[in-house]
Amino acid sequence: MGSTVTLTGWGRIAPSSAELAEPSSVADAEALLKVAAPSRPLIPRGLGRSYNNAAQCGGGVVVSSAHLNRIIELDPVTGVADCAAGVSLEQLMVAGLPAGWFVPVSPGTRQVTIGGAIAADVHGKNHHVAGSFAQHVRSFDLVLPGGELRTVTSESDPALFWATAGGMGLTGFIVRAAVQLKRVASSRVRVETVRTADIDETMAVLAEHDRRYGYTVAWSDSMARGKGLGRSVVTSGDFAALADLPAAAKDDPFAFRPGARLGVPGPFPPGLINRYTVALANEAWYRKAPKHRDGELQTIGAFFHPLDGIRNWNRVYGPGGFRQYQYVLPFGEEAAVRRSFELVSAARAPSFVTVLKRFGAGDPGLLSFPMAGWTLALDFPARTPGLGVLLDALDRLVANGGGRVYLAKDSHVPPDVLAQMYPRLPEFRALRAELDPNGMLASDLSRRLGLLARHQAAAGRLSRSEVDGVAHYTRT
Ligand SMILES: Cc1cc2nc3c(=O)[nH]c(=O)nc-3n(C[C@H](O)[C@H](O)[C@H](O)COP(=O)(O)OP(=O)(O)OC[C@H]3O[C@@H](n4cnc5c(N)ncnc54)[C@H](O)[C@@H]3O)c2cc1C
Repeated sequence: MGSTVTLTGWGRIAPSSAELAEPSSVADAEALLKVAAPSRPLIPRGLGRSYNNAAQCGGGVVVSSAHLNRIIELDPVTGVADCAAGVSLEQLMVAGLPAGWFVPVSPGTRQVTIGGAIAADVHGKNHHVAGSFAQHVRSFDLVLPGGELRTVTSESDPALFWATAGGMGLTGFIVRAAVQLKRVASSRVRVETVRTADIDETMAVLAEHDRRYGYTVAWSDSMARGKGLGRSVVTSGDFAALADLPAAAKDDPFAFRPGARLGVPGPFPPGLINRYTVALANEAWYRKAPKHRDGELQTIGAFFHPLDGIRNWNRVYGPGGFRQYQYVLPFGEEAAVRRSFELVSAARAPSFVTVLKRFGAGDPGLLSFPMAGWTLALDFPARTPGLGVLLDALDRLVANGGGRVYLAKDSHVPPDVLAQMYPRLPEFRALRAELDPNGMLASDLSRRLGLLARHQAAAGRLSRSEVDGVAHYTRT
């Protein structure tokens, strides 16, 4: 097997050491899962863009899809892409756009693998019309604990399909998937921007734009309070038609240049992102936004992945790293959404990237995050004073409102609260107990949250994470 590496997620908290295996073929992956032992559990890893430790397995083995990175076939007529699981969404965009195909769902970064997109059942700004990623997956090949390779579709084996979609790598190692891409007429997005005065207007504009646009999101000022609580910049849009493009762009309507990325020089001192700097930055960014602008053409990078423009931007939080927190609350719980803004702003907790949007109906994924309602994503420097108390209060608010937090980001929720938020967890545990009776698959996240059946969790329990001062492994 490979060398021992110390890993974190994108938030750079909770490092742990594991052996790194990088199979270069499906046969290698099968062999690896065949010899796995409960005393040395294993977890898949893609590009390490989940925020905390879902793709870590301290003391065990992390199986990376880094070398399974080939697009096997992309049919230019049907838009079905047959890919190895380590292919990134960016690779798919580069390959698909010249023929007019875009990924069906894009999270806020395109540095995500197909395997990671299925395992977290990721969502994008178009959830209200397109649902989450797994709904566009025609089939995947999964290497099960024990080494058996199985082709899974939502028709042939709905239980395994919907346990794997959102199952955070705990049902096996996905090695290949066929994904239905989305037809687009250009690589530009026609965007409407509205600056809102408060949370009520923000929610009203989001609701109205959801009816008119395929993509919507609000970037909110988490530090604003009083009359300005929840003030935001709402951006909404759809892919532009050829006729919408300026003459110069018509020659190359699918232009997409993902390469240009600025690096963040480091090291950054602790405390650079704090309540004062974030309040100032939010104020400046809010004031700069137009009150209303329509018809602006934006590139894919600017509209979908503004943070990808800066490589390793996660380092600006300094050595302590940062915690993302994302919840969804069902429609009807608007007062709780408002309350969450009050809690964050009253705590003066500096969330640098604060994003509010509306989800459409969820899919049948047992642990999939989205459900019809309001979703808010926040990120805080991990060393923010009083952060634990704030997150406790948010957990309670979300659980009491019938909502849930996102496993790809979670670093905080207690296991009993998580169980309340995911009522289908017992079904997931039961399926896992059949699929993986010896507990060969486990992650730092699954151990903390008790996602596996009890005896399996005990078998996979390992020592506490090691801490700072070591090289972190993140594929870029
Ligand atoms: C800037 C930024 C913005 C983001 N925006 C969004 C967003 O808008 N919407 C959203 O939904 N998410 C968002 N995310 C989270 C990200 O999309 C998910 O965490 C995604 O799962 C990361 O994919 P990855 O390839 O990096 O997987 P990793 O982080 O490496 O792994 C994530 C999970 O997938 C499992 N996994 C990975 N590969 C495989 C495989 N081959 N087989 C089985 N399991 C596998 C791992 O075990 C782990 O549980 C964002 C992340 C960042 C950094």
